[in-house]
Amino acid sequence: MAGQPRGNILIDTEECKGCGLCVESCPPECLELRPELNAYGVHAAHYSGDGCTGCGICFYCCPEPGAITVYRLAPPTKPLVQGESHAAAL
Ligand code: SF4
Ligand code: SF4
Repeated sequence: MAGQPRGNILIDTEECKGCGLCVESCPPECLELRPELNAYGVHAAHYSGDGCTGCGICFYCCPEPGAITVYRLAPPTKPLVQGESHAAAL
């Protein structure tokens, strides 16, 4: 996905039960189930590392509290034009 990333997520693979709901519900399709098994013997979800918008849908559909943490990234600050200062903009 081009441009500044808008979100990021962390998945606790030992909390994940491999139901796949987050994978099916992610609009940009940036989640997948790992081929290897976790300690519970299931294929845990994994973020590809690109394309997350921070929408939070995966968090809301996940039945395991604490398995997914979503971060919404702050947009980049407007670059200063010559002769302008942040103090003047406030
Ligand atoms: S926050 Fe949204 S875009 Fe990011 S992984 Fe979850 S469902 Fe996908
Ligand atoms: S919805 Fe939750 S429990 Fe199900 S695969 Fe995704 S992280 Fe794992």
